[in-house]
Amino acid sequence: MIGIIGAMREEIDPILGKLSGVKTYLVGDNKYYEGVYGEKAVFAAYSRIGKVNAAITATILIERFGVKTILFSGVAGAINNSLHIGDLIYATRLVQHDVDITAFGHPLGFIPETGDFFATDPNLNKVAESIAFERGIKLGKGIIATGDQFIADGAKKTQIAERYKADAVEMEGAAVACVCASFGVPIFVLRSISDAADMDAGFNFDAFLESSARISADFVLDIVAKL
Ligand code: SAH
Repeated sequence: MIGIIGAMREEIDPILGKLSGVKTYLVGDNKYYEGVYGEKAVFAAYSRIGKVNAAITATILIERFGVKTILFSGVAGAINNSLHIGDLIYATRLVQHDVDITAFGHPLGFIPETGDFFATDPNLNKVAESIAFERGIKLGKGIIATGDQFIADGAKKTQIAERYKADAVEMEGAAVACVCASFGVPIFVLRSISDAADMDAGFNFDAFLESSARISADFVLDIVAKL
């Protein structure tokens, strides 16, 4: 069983629109959708924004619905200036950029008995690379930094770039990757750029959320078809 997570309705609606026989379940106060894409049974949900919501959704998909693979689809702010609006990037590793217990001598982003960087699944990443190659789609890869903050400020953007060598920033990926690491579930995290995490980010996000979310959703469904 494949699980697909997005943060916002706009990120999951383009996926739900392509599933057949959709059944809805309510767990806690959030909805989970079971359906079929081609021959593949999938569960999809939008977690709502932020690390806590994303961790709840990932855990429910794994523990309640028996999902064995998680694909994340959504939008992100570009940290690496070679990424432009609508570009796709998948995470090789993710880190929580807002974790700071450096007062005890730990590195930024590090949590004892948990770690700092969470790796995504090399096999899922290879499937993504092969789809991009076949279709001539430009697919970036790199470090994605996650935190409970919408980054819309050049100085904060530079700080995240310097501290974590991050290529993109968002608010859920590392939380899902942390849950997946804990349960031994392979994870793939794809984001399409909606903004450049700079002073125009709020405006650009609103303008490009829908189109970028769809670019990511379409690619993730191509992955589902290949698994
Ligand atoms: N406009 C929304 C809030 C969006 S928060 C509202 O008012 O409800 C931004 C969402 O997109 C998060 O889910 C995050 O994962 C992603 N994202 C896109 N650009 C981002 C950025 N510059 N910084 C952090 N998260 C970003």
